[in-house]
Amino acid sequence: MLDRRHFLGVTALALAAPRVALARPVAGPAQSISEAAWRDLARAGSLHREGSAGYADLVRPQNLRYAGIRPAALIRCAAPEGVRHAIGWARQNRMPFVLRSGGHSYAGTSMTEGLIIDLRAMNAVGLRPDGLLEVAGGALNADLYTALRRHDLAVTHGRCLGVGASGFLLGGGIGFAMRDHGLGCDAVEEADLLLADGRILTVSARNEPDIFWALRGGGGGVFGAVLGWRVKPVPAEDITIFRCSWDRNVEEVFWRLTQALEAAPARMGSKITVDAAPPGSAHRPAVHLLGQLRGTPEDVEAILAPVGPAAQRRIAHVGYWDGQDALSDAGPPAYYQETSHYAGRLPHACVEEVFRRCRLWPGTSGEAVFKMFHVGGRIREVASDATAFVHRDAEWLTGTELAWTVRDGVRRVEDNLAWQRAFHHAVADATGRQGGSYQNFLDPALEDPARAYYGANLPRLAAIKARLDPEGAFTPPRRQGIPG
Ligand SMILES: Cc1cc2nc3c(=O)[nH]c(=O)nc-3n(C[C@H](O)[C@H](O)[C@H](O)COP(=O)(O)OP(=O)(O)OC[C@H]3O[C@@H](n4cnc5c(N)ncnc54)[C@H](O)[C@@H]3O)c2cc1C
Repeated sequence: MLDRRHFLGVTALALAAPRVALARPVAGPAQSISEAAWRDLARAGSLHREGSAGYADLVRPQNLRYAGIRPAALIRCAAPEGVRHAIGWARQNRMPFVLRSGGHSYAGTSMTEGLIIDLRAMNAVGLRPDGLLEVAGGALNADLYTALRRHDLAVTHGRCLGVGASGFLLGGGIGFAMRDHGLGCDAVEEADLLLADGRILTVSARNEPDIFWALRGGGGGVFGAVLGWRVKPVPAEDITIFRCSWDRNVEEVFWRLTQALEAAPARMGSKITVDAAPPGSAHRPAVHLLGQLRGTPEDVEAILAPVGPAAQRRIAHVGYWDGQDALSDAGPPAYYQETSHYAGRLPHACVEEVFRRCRLWPGTSGEAVFKMFHVGGRIREVASDATAFVHRDAEWLTGTELAWTVRDGVRRVEDNLAWQRAFHHAVADATGRQGGSYQNFLDPALEDPARAYYGANLPRLAAIKARLDPEGAFTPPRRQGIPG
């Protein structure tokens, strides 16, 4: 078991020698595996056992908070048969396993002390004659972008190139195009799912509709391994991208901005962020807006006019994919914890609470922000029980991002996490606690994660989980996933 210090990514060594990398080895479950058994596993793909060359780089998750976990091995499978063999092997040898595509789980759910089954080599993305996009189960956003750009097409996608398409789609999939075109998962027409018992099912609205329902919002690593997706793209139309910041009269700006965006057409997708600033620091919370509109710069100017003049602004009409280059975010590995909470139209009382909390940030050597993704639009056109993604009625997805580095001690990180949790509860109180949390922004500190992620859809998801995986072979760590 890992202790709390370890999960904070903070060790005594780190405190003494601030820039030293953190990784205290943790004993894994590999001791009882024979060499013959390891050779058998190697038939599934390229095998990297603990301590082998390249192992550390391959197993490292995007959230370094979980980088201290030492998997017994990682197997990179290049074909569905390899994934099937690896899952069968792990079950036969009683070794816990997780699936991995992009490794970007907020809660490190593609990290285990057992076996990582890595699908990264299964990353082909291509356009079929019927106009559907064929996306292999281990493809990343980057693979998707390249293929879509080549054909002048688009889907709803996120900003980070390293996020895996499977993780993204399984949790719903949000991005600036979601108000215009729906969630990423709303464009899925078909998926191939490898079950714990080795069967591969092709699921769609016609074939196994219950499982198809569950894969659109039920979350990653829960029902089986998705080996491939068929997704319906849309034409990539020119857009206006915008990036603006306000540093004066920030409470009023924030309020006017939320009102302006709530009245904006669904062709506009955006995210507001407010910087947190420790008390007494020279840095003051500023308000930032980032997003895209399928429309002209004049349309953006008109929508933002009531907000008042920005200290900085860039508004540009660009080709869709050039716009994505400008909006994309490298998202390098870091130590972090995120929270999320779905809300309706923002009550005015929330404004004061947000800024008060931002100004109480204890501070780390990383960053902290309050953020609000504007949701709604086409997402609402689908009923909340039509797919497993339940949060259809919301107007905003709120949350806080908190990052730290090895320079911050245990106490400091814990104080920050407590600040973040109090912030989460305060926003939930101000906007309605029933809002729930986003199943792609996994939050291991939630009291009842499954209820927060799946709400009223949880009983149906649990029944499907119990039918497909009665022994719980696919159980994401840290209380994530769906109880069977
Ligand atoms: C920097 C950053 C930016 C992000 N931006 C966005 C965004 O814009 N929009 C958004 O919606 N989300 C975003 N996310 C969240 C992201 O969508 C989820 O964390 C997603 O689960 C990551 O998928 P992954 O394959 O990269 O991660 P992994 O850690 O590899 O996998 C995540 C989970 O899915 C499981 N899984 C992976 N592959 C498969 C598969 N083929 N079949 C079944 N289960 C599988 C894993 O076991 C794990 O439980 C972002 C995350 C980060 C860190």
